[in-house]
Amino acid sequence: MEKKRYALVTGGSRGIGRAICVALAANGYHILINYKGNKEAAEETARLVAEQGTLATLLCFDVAARDGVRKVLTQWAEDNKDAVIEILVNNAGIRNDTLLPMMADDQWDTVLDTNLQGMYNVTKQVLTPMLLHRYGRIINIVSLSGIKGMPGQVNYSAAKAGVIGATKALAQEVGKRNITVNAIAPGFIKTDMTGELNEQELSAMIPVKRFGTPEEVAALAAFLASAQAGYITGQVISVNGGLYT
Ligand code: NDP
Repeated sequence: MEKKRYALVTGGSRGIGRAICVALAANGYHILINYKGNKEAAEETARLVAEQGTLATLLCFDVAARDGVRKVLTQWAEDNKDAVIEILVNNAGIRNDTLLPMMADDQWDTVLDTNLQGMYNVTKQVLTPMLLHRYGRIINIVSLSGIKGMPGQVNYSAAKAGVIGATKALAQEVGKRNITVNAIAPGFIKTDMTGELNEQELSAMIPVKRFGTPEEVAALAAFLASAQAGYITGQVISVNGGLYT
């Protein structure tokens, strides 16, 4: 019997993650919507996924909490032996900006724990079944900051650059099993994360003169997650309106 094909999107409750959930559902995937605490927003994503005609399951866990990630994903796998996760999108992320001399240890730790350790914690759980399935797509949402570095974001730039390194290394480990691993580096995208930035002022330095939309990031994620993208791996692709990186 053919297994039900699922995509797991971390941080699927809002912003870029929500748009990716909807785009992957439109391509026929059932969606595991991970979120940290915002159940109402996750339920809204589930509604949008259901509109596309596929199943949506909410999975609440903190990607930074290794034991919790393991527990929830192991339980889900045990309860769903007829299902396989073909797509993993490591999207959950936070920023907590300040110049390094002012940075509290906790600001460093939480940003690294969520953005970098989170990617490890979730990927580790999903990878072995994907290897056995001999097909998979892993997409890591990184950032312009992880490519060029941004002042005031030493923690976030370090975390995202770490994920870029992991993307390139893992792509080489798993290519022979038909699993691709790529990173998407958004620039300024209109979400809660960029809500308090001065959009007008920042738009002036972006060649296309505006912030991007979550859907514009999701369109690339959907392509990289498709079977057609099987010869693209280990890449970091920017979606940033032409900002020089
Ligand atoms: P939002 O702040 O809009 O949404 C963040 C999402 O991540 C929410 O779904 C949130 O869940 C979830 N999340 C946060 N922390 C955790 C955690 N510890 N465990 C599980 N889920 C968590 O962010 P964006 O949509 O803007 O960002 C998505 C990704 O894109 C991030 O990795 C970010 O770094 C990256 N990015 C964003 C850019 C932008 O301009 N917006 C630019 C470059 C990169 P909940 O709703 O439960 O809180």
